[in-house]
Amino acid sequence: MHCPFCRHSDSRVIDSRTSDDGLSIRRRRQCPKCGGRFSTIETASLNVIKRSGVIEPFSREKVMSGVRKACQGRPVTEGDLAVLAQAVEEAVRQTGVSQIDTNEIGLAILGPLRELDEIAYLRFASVYQAFETLEDFDEAIGLLREDRLHKQERAGE
Ligand SMILES: [Zn+2]
Repeated sequence: MHCPFCRHSDSRVIDSRTSDDGLSIRRRRQCPKCGGRFSTIETASLNVIKRSGVIEPFSREKVMSGVRKACQGRPVTEGDLAVLAQAVEEAVRQTGVSQIDTNEIGLAILGPLRELDEIAYLRFASVYQAFETLEDFDEAIGLLREDRLHKQERAGE
């Protein structure tokens, strides 16, 4: 890590702190040449393998734009999408992998999206789980209904 003040090619770590979400590490560094102090943020790399085979860095913005389409006309805010994208990133990073394919990201989105909005979830699931027939929708809706019943039962206890 080059010193931003004198461009010296070395620096010493004087303090490390993990961010609250556990996804990055902030390091305080000091340049041994000029004594200048600066901070760096380090995040473990997480890459996405697209269907085309192209590899690109994981992007919350891409998760949000994918989900945004499914949420058209639904009472879902940009803030909701940001929270969802963060939850997806945390879930993926917690698995400890450094590469993931887009389909797995799609699957990681399903859980939190279902909590957020059931209609958007169905739209999104129809693409990612490749629904082909009305019966596929029917089955997914049946599962949502069952879940809702279980929740009501638990709430009624
Ligand atoms: Zn320096």
